[in-house]
Amino acid sequence: MTAVTQETVHQLAERQIAVGEVRGTPAADPVNLPMIRHWTTAMGDANPVYTDEEYARGSVHGEIVAPPAMAQVWTMPGRGRDEKGGTPVDDVLAALDGSGYTGVVATNCEQTYHRYLRLGERLEPATRMTGFTGPKQTALGEGYFVTWNVSWYSSGEPVAEMLFRVLKFRPRERKPQSGSSQPYPLRPAVNRDTEFFWEGVRKGELRIQRCADCGELRHPPGPLCPKCRSVARTHVVACGEGEVFSFIVHHNPPVPGLETPFVVAVVQLPEGVRIVGNVVNCLTEEVSIGMPVRVRFVQMDDELTLPMWAPGGS
Ligand SMILES: [Zn+2]
Repeated sequence: MTAVTQETVHQLAERQIAVGEVRGTPAADPVNLPMIRHWTTAMGDANPVYTDEEYARGSVHGEIVAPPAMAQVWTMPGRGRDEKGGTPVDDVLAALDGSGYTGVVATNCEQTYHRYLRLGERLEPATRMTGFTGPKQTALGEGYFVTWNVSWYSSGEPVAEMLFRVLKFRPRERKPQSGSSQPYPLRPAVNRDTEFFWEGVRKGELRIQRCADCGELRHPPGPLCPKCRSVARTHVVACGEGEVFSFIVHHNPPVPGLETPFVVAVVQLPEGVRIVGNVVNCLTEEVSIGMPVRVRFVQMDDELTLPMWAPGGS
């Protein structure tokens, strides 16, 4: 692969910024109710103005409208769709890949909605590259910030816009594992909101945060009660039993301190909250939704204990 010099990437980026707005492939389908229904179901947005014709007729909109946050959905190319006539950004991203800046992480996404969309409108995207800075030293490695703006048009009228920025970085070289030393398990992030939980784990208690005003239990822990907005909090100790609500089998990437494959589950506690944890002491193929599990406090090393879940109820 030919390495592209920094000079060349900068020149290419400047040229693409000068190109201005480039029209993309129009939406495959007009704004439509089935896609709105799928999206609102997936997002858990129960607002009837998006799906209930009668309700929508009586609303300020007078008819069904699409959730504004779906703007990007309408013109996503989908798998296998021909993507020729790409955006001005594609060449720059490809050039960075070719120079070894193969890592990518999205850093900014800001959307602006000019109005609601109605059923039957067919959107057309247009992209312009607006920023290119670097190389910068970041925690992930050396990289470039690439910024672009997408505008969506309906019959020539701009209806929504998005600013998107990514960091394209050169991944750091991994140091080879030395001899017999075990890879170090990942540490949980402990802060003022979560320290009570980890203190409990060290004592063999599974603690759930509880609002000191209204009594609502919440997990993961946070600074504010979502029900009554109180910042006063305390905790209760869970009975330690639960039921697998959902799970995945993790094969890749490797995780320090754990052997793959392993199971990560969302465990429904009888106290009413759900908690994420690994399922241990059984084969991955034995895990099923609804399986009763019991908490185990697993010593990972001298300092770290993690709550995990093993088959078996009371
Ligand atoms: Zn509360």
